[in-house]
Amino acid sequence: MNDIQMVDLKGQYQKIKDKVDARIAEVINSAAFINGPEVKSFQEELEQYLDVKHVIPCANGTDALQIAMMALDLKPGDEVITTTFTFVATAEVIALLGLVPVLVDVDPDTYTINAESLKAAITDKTKAIVPVHLFGQCSNMDEVMEIANEKCLFVIEDNAQAIGADYTFKDGTVKKAGTIGLVGCTSFFPSKNLGCYGDGGAIFTNNDKLAERIRMVVNHGMKVRYYHDEIGVNSRLDSIQAAVLGVKLPELDQYNAARRAAADFYDAAFAGTNKIETPARAPYSTHVFHQYTLKLNGVDRAGLQQYLSDHGIPAMIYYPVPLHLQKAYKDDRYNDGDFPVSEDLSKRVLSLPMHTELTKEQLTFITEKVLEFINK
Ligand SMILES: *Cc1c(COP(=O)(O)O)cnc(C)c1O
Repeated sequence: MNDIQMVDLKGQYQKIKDKVDARIAEVINSAAFINGPEVKSFQEELEQYLDVKHVIPCANGTDALQIAMMALDLKPGDEVITTTFTFVATAEVIALLGLVPVLVDVDPDTYTINAESLKAAITDKTKAIVPVHLFGQCSNMDEVMEIANEKCLFVIEDNAQAIGADYTFKDGTVKKAGTIGLVGCTSFFPSKNLGCYGDGGAIFTNNDKLAERIRMVVNHGMKVRYYHDEIGVNSRLDSIQAAVLGVKLPELDQYNAARRAAADFYDAAFAGTNKIETPARAPYSTHVFHQYTLKLNGVDRAGLQQYLSDHGIPAMIYYPVPLHLQKAYKDDRYNDGDFPVSEDLSKRVLSLPMHTELTKEQLTFITEKVLEFINK
């Protein structure tokens, strides 16, 4: 049995090596490193895959969020609501732009934004909501869009973890994650569901005007070269990364299916114990399992993590500290106990190895070891 890894990028690469190597070599031979044809073709292929009018590639997922907020003309003091149980990037860019991050709690089953908390957090200063499609499943976008439309708020989807997931609205309409709100953001960090071999990101929108603004912001605020209409940033997807993504995008559905199959295996193995809650599958979203995250009931989490590690099985805690309790984001507005669901999750969650290359043998070994520890 091969070593078990949290994410097996090497194993995945071996299967597409010839194509990837050839396309990277092509980029190097052409010397079109920046804004080469690979970037344009990947952009168009992703627009088609997502069924969205505009994809604007950029340097990483954090930039994608920042650029979206810059292009929406959010001003210092404007409030932007997001969840406290997420990766820090979401709140980081809000704070960096001088906006006010307003944190809210998540749903105990899906770990995504809780509608009641969201409603309660809206003030006259609220301008935008950033739902995070955490661990590979969409937030409840029927609820989010209804609240946003009623209060005239922008919706910026943080889709770094759920690319390829399908959202089904109450009326039966189906859309890809990240194309539901006014603007969607994603990351191509290597371990994401669609990852490149370095940093990368993209912004999606169906709004022509906003797309034009975003294209200016990513490119130093210029439309005509060396004429700068506004203060922008430099954020590009480079051609080598676009070449890698061009090979991997056609595989994305298959990759997500492989993740789902691994999740099904885990679910079945843990169905018989009440010490483990397996990830909830929301009726409105497919789950693309960026992470497979268990909620433990009365299990010594650190002990389990150590036991697994002793048997060569990595397991990670996403996320050990909710943002309102992080040193950098501590704030008079928040106290310990303000977001009970997120605080409880941060103490009980554990993510098991999840990637496209897990074998039945590995999954059997992992689940056996987990059950061995919790039944001790
Ligand atoms: C990975 C991630 C980001 C940031 O993406 P980078 O490409 O690493 O900048 C933002 N939000 C969430 C939820 C993420 O998981």
